[in-house]
Amino acid sequence: MYFAMTSDWFSRFSIRFAAFAALCLAPLAHARPNILFIFTDDHATQALSAYGGMLADIAPTPNLDRIADEGMLFKRCFVTNSICGPARAVIQTGKYSHLNGFRKNGNRFDGSQPTAPKYLRQAGYQTAIVGKWHLASTPTGYDHFEVLRGQGAYYNPMLITNGENVDHVGYTTDIITEQSLDWLKNKRDADKPFLLMVQHKAPHGRWEPALRHLELFDEMEMPEPSTLFDDYSGRELPISQHKMRMLEDMNDYRLMIKYSSKHTPEQLEVFDAYFKPRNEAMLAANLSDHDRIKWNYQRYIKNYLRCVKAVDESVGALLAYLDESGLAEDTVVIYSSDQGFYLGEHGMFDKRWMYEESLRTPLLVRWPGVVEAGVVNETDIVSNLDYAQTFLDIAGASLPDDMQGASLVPVLKGNTPPDWRKYHYYHYYEHGGHGVPIHFGVTDGRFKLIRYPAPEHDTWEFFDLKSDPQELTSLYGREYPEIQANLKTQLQRLRSQYDLPEDELDGMK
Ligand code: CA
Repeated sequence: MYFAMTSDWFSRFSIRFAAFAALCLAPLAHARPNILFIFTDDHATQALSAYGGMLADIAPTPNLDRIADEGMLFKRCFVTNSICGPARAVIQTGKYSHLNGFRKNGNRFDGSQPTAPKYLRQAGYQTAIVGKWHLASTPTGYDHFEVLRGQGAYYNPMLITNGENVDHVGYTTDIITEQSLDWLKNKRDADKPFLLMVQHKAPHGRWEPALRHLELFDEMEMPEPSTLFDDYSGRELPISQHKMRMLEDMNDYRLMIKYSSKHTPEQLEVFDAYFKPRNEAMLAANLSDHDRIKWNYQRYIKNYLRCVKAVDESVGALLAYLDESGLAEDTVVIYSSDQGFYLGEHGMFDKRWMYEESLRTPLLVRWPGVVEAGVVNETDIVSNLDYAQTFLDIAGASLPDDMQGASLVPVLKGNTPPDWRKYHYYHYYEHGGHGVPIHFGVTDGRFKLIRYPAPEHDTWEFFDLKSDPQELTSLYGREYPEIQANLKTQLQRLRSQYDLPEDELDGMK
C-alpha cells in the first residue's frame, strides 16, 4: 500500500515534473537558437539591392532582400582588414589580425587558439562549416567541416570533408548549398542547437557564372560608376599606384576570354557557345583604351552579378528549408561577406583599401521575435570583429574577456549601449602584387583619417564623407584641424587599446 501510494505519488510527481521541465525547456530552447551564418567572398553592398545605390534595381538579390525585410540591415558594418583570409580569422577569433596571427593572405591560421566555434561546442552547440575556409590550416572547432582548398574553383570543386578529399561535379555555389542542406537534413544531431557557416566562394574573381545564368543581363547596358575614370588627383600617391585597373590588370581569365582547365568538356561547350562569339566581336572591333575600359567594365559587372544571382538562389533554398522544417522561428540568420569590393569605382575591381567601398561589408540579421523586421541601422558602427561575441551571446554562452569586439545582441534588440564604439580602427598589412601599401586609420563614420606609414609613403589622407562621399579630395592638413587632431588622438588610443605590438606603434611618426 505504502509502496503503491509512493508509486502513485511518484508517478504524479513525474508527470508534473515532466510538464514543468517541458515548460522550462521551451523557453530554454528558444534562448539557445540556431545560428545560420551565410557568408560570401567579395560581395559589395553596392550589389545587394536592399542597400540601394546605382544597381539597386538591377542587383538580383530578392532572397537577401528578404532577410533585410524581416530583420536588420547595417549600413555601417566596417571590416578591420579588408582582405579574404584575415577577415575570416577575425570572425573565428573576435580579435584583430595582429593578435590572431593572420595578417595577410598566405599566412597560416593557428587552429590551436580559442575560437567562437570552440566556445559554442563547449556550450553544447553543434558546429559545422561548408564552403570557403581560406585559412590554410585544417579547420578546428567544428563537428563537421567540408571546405574548399585555398580559393577553390567555381566548377567541379574538391571539398576537404572532415579530412577526406571529396570531388564534386557541378557549380560550386550550388554544391555548397546542397552539402549545407544535406548536413541540416541528414547529418546534424537534431537535439542540439547548431552553428552552420555556409561560406560561398562567390562572387570572388575570376567571375564564372552558373551555366543557367550566362544570358542574364545580356541585353542590358549596365550603368557605370561616376568614378570609373578616376584620375586620382586630389589624393596622395598610394591610390594611383594600385594594380587592379579596369584596363591593364583585367586579364583574359578574369574577363572569361580564357577559361580554367577545371571545367568538364560539356561545361566548356556551353561557355564557348556564349563567350566565344562575343569575345571575337570585341577583339575584331579594335577598341580604344577608353572603350576597352567600358567593355571590360560591362563584362566584369555582368559576370559578377551573375555570380551574385546564384548566391541569392542559395539563400532562397536555405530560407525555404528553414520554413519547411519549422526551424525558421528558432534560427538566427546572419548574412555577411568577408569585405566590400570595387565594382568599377575609382577604376578598380578589388578591395584592400580603407576607402568606403572595401571598408564596408554587408550585414543582415534576421532573428524572429527578437529583431524587429525591416529596420535599417544607419548609424551604429559595427564590425566583423563583433561576430564571434555575437554568436556566443546569441547562444547564451559567456563572453571571453580577451575578444576585442562587442556583442551585437543589444544593438539587434534596438538597445544600443550608450558607450557603443564611436570610432573604428582599420589596419591593412599585405603590401603585395596589387600595389596597395600597408596602411591603417580611423573613422567615426563621417570623417576618416588614413595613415600610410614610412618608409614607403609617410603620408596621410583625411576625408569628409558628408561633402565628399566618394573620397575624391583629401583635406589632410587643410580643413577641420580640430577634427583631424581628435582623429589622431583616437587612432593612438585605439592602437594602444587593441594591443598593437610595440614595433608597430611608432607607425604614426
Ligand atoms: Ca574576399
